[in-house]
Amino acid sequence: MALAPLESELTDDQQVLIDAVREYARNELLPLDRQWDAGESTVFDIVQQLAEMGLLTLVVPEDFGGLACPYRVYASIIHELASSSPSTAVTVAVHCMVGKILASRAPEPLRSELLKGWGDPENFGAFALSEAGAGSDAAAVKTEAVEADGGFRLTGEKMWISNGMRARWFLTLVRLKDAPTDGALCAFVVDGREKGLERTQVHGKMGIRGSETAVIHLDNVFVPKDHLIGERGEGLQVCLSSLNEGRIGIAAQASGIAEACLDEMVTYSRQRKQFGKPIGTFPAIGEMIADSAVELEAAKLLIWRAATEVDQGKLAPTASSMAKLYATEAANRIAYRAVQVHGGSGYVNECRVEQLYRDVRVTTLYEGTSEIQRYVIARELTKA
Ligand SMILES: Cc1cc2nc3c(=O)[nH]c(=O)nc-3n(C[C@H](O)[C@H](O)[C@H](O)COP(=O)(O)OP(=O)(O)OC[C@H]3O[C@@H](n4cnc5c(N)ncnc54)[C@H](O)[C@@H]3O)c2cc1C
Repeated sequence: MALAPLESELTDDQQVLIDAVREYARNELLPLDRQWDAGESTVFDIVQQLAEMGLLTLVVPEDFGGLACPYRVYASIIHELASSSPSTAVTVAVHCMVGKILASRAPEPLRSELLKGWGDPENFGAFALSEAGAGSDAAAVKTEAVEADGGFRLTGEKMWISNGMRARWFLTLVRLKDAPTDGALCAFVVDGREKGLERTQVHGKMGIRGSETAVIHLDNVFVPKDHLIGERGEGLQVCLSSLNEGRIGIAAQASGIAEACLDEMVTYSRQRKQFGKPIGTFPAIGEMIADSAVELEAAKLLIWRAATEVDQGKLAPTASSMAKLYATEAANRIAYRAVQVHGGSGYVNECRVEQLYRDVRVTTLYEGTSEIQRYVIARELTKA
C-alpha cells in the first residue's frame, strides 16, 4: 500500500512515477537485495539503473535536470524502495539528502557544477558527520581543518559513512583550527578523489548489507575555500538542518520495511494451519496483525505530515523527529511480530522476515537515535 493517505493528493504523473518505482523494486530489487544480504555484491552494482530511473535526482531542481519531486513524493518513493530493498532505500536517501542541502545552501558556481552532475553515479554523495568520539554529540567532531593556500587541509577520521566506499562528494563536518568556539564548526564538500582521502569498508553489519558503509580517513586532504557550505561556524546548523529533512527519509525507509513485514505476516497467517485452522483465525495472531496495521498507518500519517511541512517550506524539527521516532520504533515492533507470526520458519534466512528483522534494526540508530529524537521533541515542546 502506498505511503500517501489519499492517492488523490498526488498528481497523475507523481502516481505514475511512484507506481513505476514500486514495480521496479518488486521485480528487480527484491531478488537482488536477498543476494546482497548474502554478501554477494551491493547496491552499487545497479546504480546505473537507479540513475536511469531518475532516482539520483529526485529532489534536484528542474533547472539542473532533476525531477524536483515534492518531499511527499520523495518519501513515497523511499517507502516503495524500502519495502523491497531497504539497502537501496538508504543508499538513495543519503545521496538525495546531500543533494538537497547543496541545492539550498551551496554557493554558486559550486551549486550548479555539482547539481548538474548529481544524476551521474560517478558523483555519488555521502554525509560525513560521525566520528569515533562524535555520534549523538555531533558538535564533538575532531576532524580538523587548517587554512592553506586557496582553501583548507582536512585531517581526521569519519566513521560509519553510508555510500562512503564509492561517493565522490562528502558533506563533511570539521573543526577549524584556532577559530573562536562559535566559528569553529564548518561544513565542506570534500572531493573523494583528492589525495589523502582513503576508505575502509565496514564489514559484519547486522543488516542493510547491500548498503556500503565506510570509515573515511582524511590525511591533509585539500578542499578549496569555495567548497564551504554556509558560513564559517554554521557547519553544525547545516548538518542538523540536513538531518532534519533526512530523518523523514529514514522514517519512510522504516515504514517500507514495516509494510513488507505486514504483507508477509498476513500471507503466512492465511496459509499456515495449526489445530486444523489457519493461524490468522487465532485471536493472538490477529492482534499482532491488527496492532501492526494500526501502527504502520500511524507512522505513514506522521511521515506524510512532516513531508508536507517540507513542501510548505516550514518543517519544524518536532515533525521530523516525531515521524522518525514513531516510524522506526513501530517498524521494529512490527518486524518482531512478523518473526513471531512465522514461528520457527521466521528464524531462518530462507524466510524474508528474518532479513527484514535485521535490516530494520538500524533505523532507530542512524540519523539520530530514538533517544535523540525524544530529546529534540521535548526540547522543542519545553522551550520558553
Ligand atoms: C549502518 C550505519 C550507517 C551510518 N551512516 C552514517 C552516515 O552516512 N553518516 C554519518 O555521519 N553517520 C552515520 N552513521 C552513524 C550514526 O548516525 C550513529 O551511529 C548514531 O548517530 C549514534 O551515534 P553513536 O553510534 O556514536 O552512539 P552514541 O552517540 O555513543 O550513543 C550510544 C547510546 O547513548 C545514547 N545517548 C547518547 N547521547 C544521549 C543523550 N544526550 N540522552 C540520552 N541518550 C543518549 C544513544 O541514544 C545510544 O543509545 C551510521 C551508522 C550505522 C550503524
